[in-house]
Amino acid sequence: MTLRLYNTLTRSIEPFEPLRPPRVSLYTCGPTIYNYAHIGNFRTFLFEDLLRRWLEVSGYEVFHIMNLTDVDDRTIAAARKRGVSLREHVEPFAKAFFEDRNYLRIRPAHAYPRATEYVGPMIALTAALLDKGVAYRGDDGSIYFAIARFPAYGSLSRLDQRELKAGASERVSADEYAKEDARDFVLWKAARPDDEAVGAAWDAPFGRGRPGWHLECSAMALDLIKTMGVDVLDIHAGGVDLIFPHHEDEIAQSCAYTGKPDFARFWLHGEFLNVQGSKMSKREGNIFTARDLKDQGIDAGAVRFLLFGTHYQQKLDWNDDALAAASTGSVRLGRFRDRLVGAAQIDPGAEDPESVKVANQFRTRFADALNDNLNAPQALATIFEVLLPEGNRLLDERRAVGPALAGAWELVDCVLDIAPEARTVTIKVAADAVLVADSASATVRFGGAGRSEEAITEDGVLTTPPEVPPPDSEGAEQWARRWASIRATEKIRRNFPEADRIRGLLRSHGWEVQDAKDGSIQLRKLAGG
Ligand SMILES: [Zn+2]
Repeated sequence: MTLRLYNTLTRSIEPFEPLRPPRVSLYTCGPTIYNYAHIGNFRTFLFEDLLRRWLEVSGYEVFHIMNLTDVDDRTIAAARKRGVSLREHVEPFAKAFFEDRNYLRIRPAHAYPRATEYVGPMIALTAALLDKGVAYRGDDGSIYFAIARFPAYGSLSRLDQRELKAGASERVSADEYAKEDARDFVLWKAARPDDEAVGAAWDAPFGRGRPGWHLECSAMALDLIKTMGVDVLDIHAGGVDLIFPHHEDEIAQSCAYTGKPDFARFWLHGEFLNVQGSKMSKREGNIFTARDLKDQGIDAGAVRFLLFGTHYQQKLDWNDDALAAASTGSVRLGRFRDRLVGAAQIDPGAEDPESVKVANQFRTRFADALNDNLNAPQALATIFEVLLPEGNRLLDERRAVGPALAGAWELVDCVLDIAPEARTVTIKVAADAVLVADSASATVRFGGAGRSEEAITEDGVLTTPPEVPPPDSEGAEQWARRWASIRATEKIRRNFPEADRIRGLLRSHGWEVQDAKDGSIQLRKLAGG
């Protein structure tokens, strides 16, 4: 089964095939960096991350472009309000966006063009559209696109041609406008004092000014895909709110310029996210950002789990119950991962045929789900219907699991990335530790290179920590380190029953201890422990 995607352009699910396989050009409209991106924005970026990852797992070489809008109505207004330059205003928000992206484990795009760095191509595009007679100068000095000169206008948003209002007296200069305002839109805005004040004005042959928001994406996309030798994108994606006017205007400008029937062959749009049943808005006071979640200590695995639990074309409601359920699901997956990682053999020959069968069965169903227009909820269900119960059964039965089953899990990790982050603490204990312990006493003294800093008090006495860890996470980690060190000394003393007992004690409190070949100890915090 090959990948099939819903194309907004044709309103149907179509088999996806790029222009020049195995390469895929993917353009996704990025954030406007006048403020922090909210979770609704990130829902779109995560759906695009899923698309990108699935294309890559499917063998495509994706060239992913995501622009940063650093000049538009909103960035200029925000900079003006604070009395700073445009650059000074947007820079921290660009940095914040990358931090949030990393927190949410979104794969970095290959190019992050900023509008202000592509003013040259934007001027060239506007000049070309003027030459072709599809653009004109308005009496306000701005350059407008004449939608009446582009018969295909409205094809993406399916606007009725009668709704279009063409002509010099019917035009719109705002970056964002409603469907009722389907009229000539601005390509280049004549400079106003506010633009000059924040450093958002450039000289152009047709007058000093700045680009309109829609023009920015067309110019940057066309400039960057030139390196692939094409002028049509394979996929263009964004939120549903961008269909009109943003994407409609992008198509008009780009196709009028290239003369091609398409600007992108596939247009994909992600639905909105509601919060506690209502649309996110300033008025509702229910806008929150990725960093709010991070500050609350919410693992990105749970956020991804929640967002992928609803198909990208369906509205999603973010609420506390959904987040709690997603966290529980994510933690269950983490436990399974830790169990599997601890048990999986490296030798494929040693793997039980049953384990290979489960892995293959899972891979097929998982791939079918994602190939079916990125049906992530179905892919998630398959994990809980096949991989988790069958995998756990094999582990319970102490069957030999190996690379096939581990590979099935890796596929989940690679595509959905929804398990909690694994934390590993390495404790250095050299193999040549010399014990000077008195095993009869409650304390253990030891010296030589093997002394483990964490476990010994100042006078070189290794005291036994309590059997139960303290409740705080820092104290718990210290506790686990100390027990792991004691276990190491017990092993050196060849007191294996006690070493095993300590391993069990640590495991019962959510820590997995593993011995590395170099003599160090890997201490791994298990999910949910
Ligand atoms: Zn765009």
